[in-house]
Amino acid sequence: MRGAILHAPGDVRFETRDDPEIIDNTDAIIRMSATCVCGSDLWDYRGINPVSEPAPIGHEYVGVVEAVGSEVTTIRPGQFVIGSFFASDGTCPHCQAGYQTSCQHREFVGAGGAQAEALRVPLADGTLVATPEIPSDELLPSLLAASDVLGTGWYAAVAAGVQPGSTVAVVGDGAVGLLGVLAAKQLGAERIIAMSRHEPRQRLAREFGASDIVTERGDEGVARIMDLTRGVGADAVLECVGTPESMQQALRSTRPGGGVGIVGVPHGVSIDGEQLFYSHVRVQGGPAPVRRFLPELVELILNGEINPGKVFDLDLPLSEVAEGYAAMDERRAIKTLLRP
Ligand SMILES: [Zn+2]
Repeated sequence: MRGAILHAPGDVRFETRDDPEIIDNTDAIIRMSATCVCGSDLWDYRGINPVSEPAPIGHEYVGVVEAVGSEVTTIRPGQFVIGSFFASDGTCPHCQAGYQTSCQHREFVGAGGAQAEALRVPLADGTLVATPEIPSDELLPSLLAASDVLGTGWYAAVAAGVQPGSTVAVVGDGAVGLLGVLAAKQLGAERIIAMSRHEPRQRLAREFGASDIVTERGDEGVARIMDLTRGVGADAVLECVGTPESMQQALRSTRPGGGVGIVGVPHGVSIDGEQLFYSHVRVQGGPAPVRRFLPELVELILNGEINPGKVFDLDLPLSEVAEGYAAMDERRAIKTLLRP
């Protein structure tokens, strides 16, 4: 089969790779219907995470099951399936509590490199969600978004404690931040302030439910949030970037008693204990347990109630994966869809 290999920072190639095989009896092999480039792939692409040797890349996927191991009982060949970036068994105490990304038997699905024509998915019964039938092509982008960015934005909103009537601020206007806006809207937020400086992203944020846009950052950004909330701060803030600046933006924009949901993978972030103590702010983060939300999100998509696939503003054949990365790196695209 063919797929993407990251050779070095800025150097992604479309190459022939070994076909994935069933290794454990609980595995499935899927034929990719669509995959995409994640904001977190850019940490590798930009060399912020070291690239020690050429490696397959990509961790977002939807596809049709081609084969399953002998111990797989609920997933069958021919089904259309969606899964998250961590495989999870669905049965351990952490899975049962809804934290599948901390599964005691978790495996990173992305290790196999989802930007490819086929993929091995470990722990298929726990990891994959099958749709009742093969969905139409128009639904592919939205279902693919559920694999990571929608589920991650959703978790950010849940972790921040968004409730009906909440005032919410979203830090970060990447695909996750934009879908955090959509999640907050679905969870009943009354006011949603999106922090964005980019006109196409502001437009999408409004389409997903943002009521206000704040373009300022740092002290000025915090001051604008305070202005908009009569000096109180937001009830719930979604941190969808992962830098020291974005974390401060989030913590300082939250009202006492409010919550911050952190889904931007922290790079060089430290939180001051004394600041946190006196802020009265609740913090929850972590790799989003997307699997917890998948059944509900898939249903919302199949019923046409949400259209998260709008975050894909570049649609390329998988063979042009290198351009897909470059466009996101240069912020010419919010998110690149890749079709094998
Ligand atoms: Zn588990």
